[in-house]
Amino acid sequence: MPASNSKTDQPKAGVLYVVATPIGNLADMSERAVQILSSVDAVAAEDTRHSRVLFSQFGIKTRMISLNEQNEAGKIPALLSMLGRGEDIALISDAGTPLISDPGFQLVRAARETGLRVSPVPGASAMIAALSVAGLPTDRFVFEGFLPARPVARRKALTRLLTEPRTVVLYESVHRIIDSLNDMVRVLGEDRQAVVARELTKKFETVVHGRLGDLAQKLSQDRASLKGEFVVVIAGSAALEEDLADARKLLQALLEELPAAQAARVAAKMTGVSRKTLYRMALAAGR
Ligand code: SAM
Repeated sequence: MPASNSKTDQPKAGVLYVVATPIGNLADMSERAVQILSSVDAVAAEDTRHSRVLFSQFGIKTRMISLNEQNEAGKIPALLSMLGRGEDIALISDAGTPLISDPGFQLVRAARETGLRVSPVPGASAMIAALSVAGLPTDRFVFEGFLPARPVARRKALTRLLTEPRTVVLYESVHRIIDSLNDMVRVLGEDRQAVVARELTKKFETVVHGRLGDLAQKLSQDRASLKGEFVVVIAGSAALEEDLADARKLLQALLEELPAAQAARVAAKMTGVSRKTLYRMALAAGR
């Protein structure tokens, strides 16, 4: 029975809890996550069949409602009215923190806009787990989620990261990890330091670091390492952003008159930015 507000006799609105679940190791489930999932009126889950395993492990019997990328918008009115009636709802995804490359953003935004309370029950996220062991700067970083699946769009996205000075964190699926790493080498260069974190917290957890070129080669050769889930962490561009911006302008002007290799050589001499970087910029510009 929802508590009522004595002044208006309206039921007190419920709370939307955003609950993180483990990314592979069930022992990472927090006590509070179990307690909240057991006590709310309903759990909005990305895949109810998948979450049943988690529920049975922890003896959670709460009713589940499916909330995934396809049906999220349509489910919002019903979920908001449940919250409005005073029912508490927990949101979970298949693994890790909801909304982080997972559904839930539209629901959380709608709940906030309605003035409802949204409360986190924090826990695992593959991006933070990978950053915490990568050994690359963590004072500033950017999370880019999944790169586009199509090669042209993927290379374009990587080109935008060429001059990114902060550490970059990316998610990748097993089907595309090799193609993505090869594109990273092609666009960002083989010398950039990076880390490939696979199957974090699981039995076959591996974290390899090195130059992008070496990582791409290593993974292509070792088919056994091509299973599971991946996070790629890439060191930010060491070059100063301003230098690169100036060099880019000069390169663009030179490319009007010269072929890519020659334009890159001249721009490198004039700006001190590496010829390789400029040549890659020229290629990325379609020259
Ligand atoms: N919401 C999740 C989170 O907070 O990390 C991410 C969900 S996203 C759909 C799934 C992707 O996260 C995978 O393709 C992989 O890139 C990454 N991921 C999830 N679990 C992982 C793990 N145990 N080890 C490495 N990467 C993982």
